[in-house]
Amino acid sequence: MFVEPLFYQPKTSDQKKGTGWIEVICGSMFSGKTEELIRRLNRAVLAKQQVEIFKPAIDQRYHEENIVSHNDNFIRSTPVSVASEILLHVHKGEVVGIDEAQFFDDSIVEVSQKLAAQGTRVIIAGLDMDYLGKPFGPMPSLMAIAEFVTKVHAICMKCGGVASHSYRLADSDSTVLLGSQSQYEARCRRCFHETPATTI
Ligand code: ZN
Repeated sequence: MFVEPLFYQPKTSDQKKGTGWIEVICGSMFSGKTEELIRRLNRAVLAKQQVEIFKPAIDQRYHEENIVSHNDNFIRSTPVSVASEILLHVHKGEVVGIDEAQFFDDSIVEVSQKLAAQGTRVIIAGLDMDYLGKPFGPMPSLMAIAEFVTKVHAICMKCGGVASHSYRLADSDSTVLLGSQSQYEARCRRCFHETPATTI
């Protein structure tokens, strides 16, 4: 049986005054990436740190501007069209969350570096691979420059094994059908390759 390995969890106490860093949380669809991002951000809110979250404006699944955390505090959620916009929005944010990072342009890498250099803890969540099993957008670069990388896993919807791939059931023009999670299955490596991808 596969046992999820314990991973090193960055702590607030790791943050020396004025020192930032980058954390990446990645995995397939249905792996709980966003939940893990929110969990970390909520802990920061409880520690009374200033928290902001950004997501690409392309992602229409989220309509609410704010994410409510446990103690009725809000995490302000801001949709941005290009990564560089994030720098304009961050004021004295100690912690910045970035969701669906695979949809950002490559400048998200430089933006994250700048934020970390100015003392911000940057927590990035995104799909590591697209439906073809190829590294997705800026995610490989973000994983390379991050201090901490956590891969979360889903459960294979075919065999119950550990799933790291997003298998697309329907044909589509876009790399990921936004808001259409029913069009995808989380699959393990074996089941992902077992059935041929949708007919082209
Ligand atoms: Zn499987």
